[in-house]
Amino acid sequence: MRIDVVTIFPELIEVPLRTSIIGRAVEAGVVEFGIHDLRAHGLGRHRSVDDEPYGGGAGMVMRPEPLFAAIEPLREAGAHVVLLDPAGERLTDALARHLAGVAHLALVCGRYEGIDERVRTVVDREVSIGDYVLTGGELPALVLIDAVVRLVPGTISQASHEGDSFASGMLEYPQYTRPESFRGLGVPPVLLSGNHGEVDRWRRREALRRTRERRPDLLEGALDDADRALLATLDDD
Ligand code: SAM
Repeated sequence: MRIDVVTIFPELIEVPLRTSIIGRAVEAGVVEFGIHDLRAHGLGRHRSVDDEPYGGGAGMVMRPEPLFAAIEPLREAGAHVVLLDPAGERLTDALARHLAGVAHLALVCGRYEGIDERVRTVVDREVSIGDYVLTGGELPALVLIDAVVRLVPGTISQASHEGDSFASGMLEYPQYTRPESFRGLGVPPVLLSGNHGEVDRWRRREALRRTRERRPDLLEGALDDADRALLATLDDD
């Protein structure tokens, strides 16, 4: 997989892409990154990439010429171009899984008050990481990269992410590690029993409990008959 990033702050994203699991994925050849400084296409002596909004108003808007100049070669190279934008479709586990299957992504980071509207004509998709506004698209791009690259085969084992929250349509079950007793708080005995069938049943039941309590909206559509039977037993607790 290849991911190109267009930004006016390359330094904001370089370190996270070299660090931890994403950095190891790069070393293993699972993913390669290209970071493009938008100022290379900036206008005039000051390599300007922004200007005042037509019609007046606060802040500056990113001009189309530098963005078109940065994006068009990436499109021609076959990239699926994604603009990070609060007005985009929400990033979800399902969208991350879809993007993990795309061989070449190009992520475009906005700044200031956002981009000239005409830039939307050269992107394939717009993605938002949530209903709040950040100062730029670099952190959203990193969030998207992290969510996507961990799903690309060779980054982490499939077993590690297929049980994660949202992958199965639910939140994950509670996890415990040593010590067995900590400040008077114990570990559910079933997890120490060595009975894998019972452990699996307990985990599914606790995932259902947590999802019903915290995100009941996720349960619709995620349940099979066995889950419905387990859910009914929660009412007996
Ligand atoms: N004026 C814009 C609006 O109200 O939608 C917000 C612009 S924001 C200050 C600057 C840039 O940050 C955006 O162009 C976008 O690239 C990025 N950004 C901010 N919040 C975001 C979010 N929730 N999801 C994705 N990108 C975001």
